[in-house]
Amino acid sequence: MKNRTDGLLIIVQFFFLFAMPCVSKAQVTDDRIHDLKAGRVQPDTSYIYSLPFSPKSKFLLIQAYNSKMSHAGELSLDFKMKPGSKIFAAREGVVESVKENSDQGGLKSEYMNDGNHIIIRHYDGSVAMYWHLQKDGVLINEGDSLQKGKHIGFSGNTGYSAFPHLHFQVQDASGRDVATRFYTKKGVRYLRPGKWYEAG
Ligand SMILES: [Zn+2]
Repeated sequence: MKNRTDGLLIIVQFFFLFAMPCVSKAQVTDDRIHDLKAGRVQPDTSYIYSLPFSPKSKFLLIQAYNSKMSHAGELSLDFKMKPGSKIFAAREGVVESVKENSDQGGLKSEYMNDGNHIIIRHYDGSVAMYWHLQKDGVLINEGDSLQKGKHIGFSGNTGYSAFPHLHFQVQDASGRDVATRFYTKKGVRYLRPGKWYEAG
């Protein structure tokens, strides 16, 4: 009886010593394991947003995190969009505020307060901001709870804006900008300027 148990133990030990590392090697590269062991990378457990526009549509990201033009020190994204493009909720939440009565916009500081927008509060306390929407381009009301992927408005060029685009920005509960990752047609990505992104 004892011998049989020993035999089994050896088989189990063999599995853990040799077979298991082969399984994990297939999923994670040696470099990644090395970095994880050294504490250099943390697994990314952040929320994955949907791109804030309609499925199958594709837009060019002009500015991303800390871009020099108008995002210095700011974690936000500018998608070039012709006015009237459909804007979708990137994450579920409750509509905190909307503005849609402006038709003023341009690169002058006097337009600073003229940007139509939607602000959605998420259930972890963070907010997403969708800026520069067109006049009467908001389809939802303050207090609405909505699902990710809902058509919430139309893009425009109102407020402090150099060209028609959507400015998308997320802040945590204490008002700090947050870098967000997205489902794209090519997989989950943090976005980079100068690239086109298609909603999956
Ligand atoms: Zn912007």
